[in-house]
Amino acid sequence: MIKFLDLQKINAQYASELKVASTRVIDSGWYLLGNEVKNFETHLAEYVGVKHAIGVANGLDALRLILKAYIEMGIMAEGDEVIVPANTYIASILAISDNRLTPVLVEPDINSYNLNISLIEKHITARTKAIMVVHLYGQVCWGEELEALAKKYNLKIIEDNAQAIGAVGGSQSLTQAARKTGSLGDAAGFSFYPGKNLGAMGDGGAVTTNDDALATMVRALGNYGSKQKYVNEYQGLNSRLDELQAALLDVKLRYIDADNQRRREIAQYYIENIKNDKLILPIYNLSFTIHHFSHVWHLFVIRCTERERLQQYLTDNGIQTLIHYPIPPHKQGAYKEMNTVAFPITEQIHNEVLSLPMSPVMEWEEVKYVVEIVNNFN
Ligand SMILES: *Cc1c(COP(=O)(O)O)cnc(C)c1O
Repeated sequence: MIKFLDLQKINAQYASELKVASTRVIDSGWYLLGNEVKNFETHLAEYVGVKHAIGVANGLDALRLILKAYIEMGIMAEGDEVIVPANTYIASILAISDNRLTPVLVEPDINSYNLNISLIEKHITARTKAIMVVHLYGQVCWGEELEALAKKYNLKIIEDNAQAIGAVGGSQSLTQAARKTGSLGDAAGFSFYPGKNLGAMGDGGAVTTNDDALATMVRALGNYGSKQKYVNEYQGLNSRLDELQAALLDVKLRYIDADNQRRREIAQYYIENIKNDKLILPIYNLSFTIHHFSHVWHLFVIRCTERERLQQYLTDNGIQTLIHYPIPPHKQGAYKEMNTVAFPITEQIHNEVLSLPMSPVMEWEEVKYVVEIVNNFN
């Protein structure tokens, strides 16, 4: 059987280094807020190209803490609006509503599946304080138009970078300097959920930013609202990356570019060789270098109007697939107030998408087998 994602095989690549790192932490007697987290934060900040990286407990908390920090700093207040794509994993939206801010959902672009930047402006009101972009499936969502809107309306741009560590964006043209996701906006949330491109062996997350005040606030809020032990300036949370996960992530960070490159090669092979009129492949221009690096292929998502039959056919042929995601956030019980609002493009995407196996440890024979079976679907 071809697994959708073989986590055991992914981590086995680095097993000896991971074991050295975990033994070091176990033997150290120090498990929270120590040198392992500091090291990893330094390396992550260097990698992303930002001044600050702050380890937190998970990706949802990274986004929650950014917004909570803006509220504590007086930049946002309860009831303010944050624009967010309707087509995202629900965590992006939970981070907003958890802070008693109002998520304003905006439809995606049917070709990129990312937030349709040209639809944002008509959703901006006097209460809009931020735009949360999600680099969905690993593809950068950015543009000069977005930067101009943020400037014009004085909005923060928060990146949900849970799926796109290592992707490069920031400019539409080849001449402008490329920057990595996580450094494009005012602040970004990362997830190290085991299945993400940089996965921990448990939960983990991080916030990145160039904003000194925001970094200090996020760090305090993630540690009981405290900068100094037993002195609590704010009503914070306990949301910290632990030493063990930080040590493991620090090992894996060294290989993230190689892993992402392998994903790109597989994606390119899929795109060049899958030929089936019943399917829509990712619409993506691989010929430009800058575009090539603007996707890290966390997921390889195709569309099919007969999605259920396709998935069953692939299962019958030993190919495991997943759906990202089967129910859109606005149709969830968690957001009953939005259940009757229509987001037709989001709904179409949720009805048609299917994620093919994609990981840096897929063998070429497996990739070729997937292509052969998919091409024979009729
Ligand atoms: C995974 C994910 C999150 C949440 O990350 P966790 O570490 O699981 O809390 C947020 N947004 C998106 C787009 C994600 O894919």
